[in-house]
Amino acid sequence: MATITLRKTRETRVRGGHPWIYASEIEKVEGAFENGDIVDVADFRGKFIGRGFYNPQSQISLRILTRRDEPCDRDFFARRIRDAWEYRKLLCDLNSCRLIYSESDFLPGLVVDKFGDILVLQSLSLGIERIKDMLCDLLMEIVEPAGIWERSDVPVRRLEGLEQATGLLRGEVPDVVEMRENGIRFLVDVKHGQKTGFFLDQRENRALVERYARGRNVLNLFCYTGGFSVYALGGGALHVDSVDSSAKAMAMVDRNIALNGFSAEQHTSFCADAIEHLAAVEDGRYDLIIVDPPAFAKHRGALKNALRAYQRLNARAIEKIAPGGLVFTFSCSQVVEKEAFALAVFSAAAGTGRRVRILDRLCQPADHAVNIYHPEGEYLKGLLLYVE
Ligand code: SAH
Repeated sequence: MATITLRKTRETRVRGGHPWIYASEIEKVEGAFENGDIVDVADFRGKFIGRGFYNPQSQISLRILTRRDEPCDRDFFARRIRDAWEYRKLLCDLNSCRLIYSESDFLPGLVVDKFGDILVLQSLSLGIERIKDMLCDLLMEIVEPAGIWERSDVPVRRLEGLEQATGLLRGEVPDVVEMRENGIRFLVDVKHGQKTGFFLDQRENRALVERYARGRNVLNLFCYTGGFSVYALGGGALHVDSVDSSAKAMAMVDRNIALNGFSAEQHTSFCADAIEHLAAVEDGRYDLIIVDPPAFAKHRGALKNALRAYQRLNARAIEKIAPGGLVFTFSCSQVVEKEAFALAVFSAAAGTGRRVRILDRLCQPADHAVNIYHPEGEYLKGLLLYVE
């Protein structure tokens, strides 16, 4: 096994528990290795500090797997997967959940979502890619799904020197999978839907919409397959309008509404640009608006424009909502910190001159919980506002 020795000056972050080591923090590499191998990591004195995936092609050259002097073999990965599964058994509904969340489950670069008895896997680091086959065997043994489908069609793979990849990994996977979330049924297009097919991270925020929806006229902007819409109807909303620019997503919204026994009179689908759609809405038409756009900033360079875009969009929603209305607003941009997002929304609110209160601050659920040693895992933030 090769050994990577770190530079003297730059190790406080790593010492503090952060699992990433950048190329610039490495002093020397001794011994033979192939990209993606598991290597030993030593501090500048040569003292062992951990073991992890090494990929010199990536700016994040090392991803620590363990801080103990233990073999990173099949048993090791079996324990990691079993730990992740036991944690979900304790805290989540096992029918649909994120089963493995990368650094939060100490499996850097591996994401696995569970929809009913189907698993959808994303391999995001070369180290994970090299042992993908073994990981699939372990998932089959430990979780016993009917099948595993790969959705590694994500741009970040390029940073690891990897091509996009999708397809069947194990068992059998239908085109459309049915799952349950808080007792509500959803159809998930695991093969061609966005990301892994369904946004599991909004589960608890959807339940909150259900709680507040009674008697309200609801507008669900950027609705994807209608998650928030079905919950709003379940909570007794008078009517829900759902808007998304993806025709495929909107077709699935209609199926999800029908699947849960709601009628076409209670719901209207709009395949449209959500920002233009909102601009044309008359004041006071809705008294609950959900704003859940795609990440406006995909990298730091886009931060300033993204904050302006969040501000403009939220200003429109706050301006248009009926008195006594509720705005559920979100950002899933990892580079937009929650304070910055709140500031953008508050300035939007102030600009409308209306009186606004914060009813709740929203975040990711337990199956997407943030590892304190890896704050980069935090990306979803939201606010529930009451507008007078
Ligand atoms: N709220 C959804 C997830 C939203 S993901 C849920 O609970 O599942 C963001 C969605 O925004 C995607 O479905 C994407 O198709 C849509 N989208 C992106 N740009 C858009 C635009 N300009 N107008 C409307 N929808 C857009």
